Amino acid sequence: MKQKSKHRLMHRLLQAIAGWLLVALSSVAQSLVLPAQIDQAMTEKIWVFIKQETHAPENLPLPPILFDDQVPKQARMVFQFPSVDSPDNVLQISIGTYGTRLWNQEMMLWALGHELTHYALLMQENQWQEKKIYENNLRHHCNFEFMRITRDVVELIWEQYQNVAARMRMYNEVHKSCNRQPLQ
Ligand SMILES: [Zn+2]
Repeated sequence: MKQKSKHRLMHRLLQAIAGWLLVALSSVAQSLVLPAQIDQAMTEKIWVFIKQETHAPENLPLPPILFDDQVPKQARMVFQFPSVDSPDNVLQISIGTYGTRLWNQEMMLWALGHELTHYALLMQENQWQEKKIYENNLRHHCNFEFMRITRDVVELIWEQYQNVAARMRMYNEVHKSCNRQPLQ
């Protein structure tokens, strides 16, 4: 019951944010895919897939996903959580409005899937318990399961959008994460 109402609240919050962003950004750059236009059905499909693959509780809700113009351009999307090193962090995914402004729908969905995989593996490491401080001793980017799941997310998006260039770019990102940030 508690989980359910939390989930509903989050859903409403996301809708509110999406609505607000649509209003705030539609006048700025209409030709671009904006964060507010993230394919909600595909996001849900990807989330269900990630939960299946990580053996998460079926009712695990999406973490808070916020659009944030303070995220540095090169960081693009960030998953943060309170840890021993950063106890004041809030558990959430932040989507940088600047670094992602030229992304198409596929790239946006894939990157969100990448962050959601971080979230699921973190929760798995913490026995799916909400905590004040999370354990995070596992490196994700070159982890076999992490790479397999984020690769499979490429295929889910490909099935829907059938964009060859986007598919190659997403695969490239799977390996880039491991090559360039193996410690994350
Ligand atoms: Zn990452």
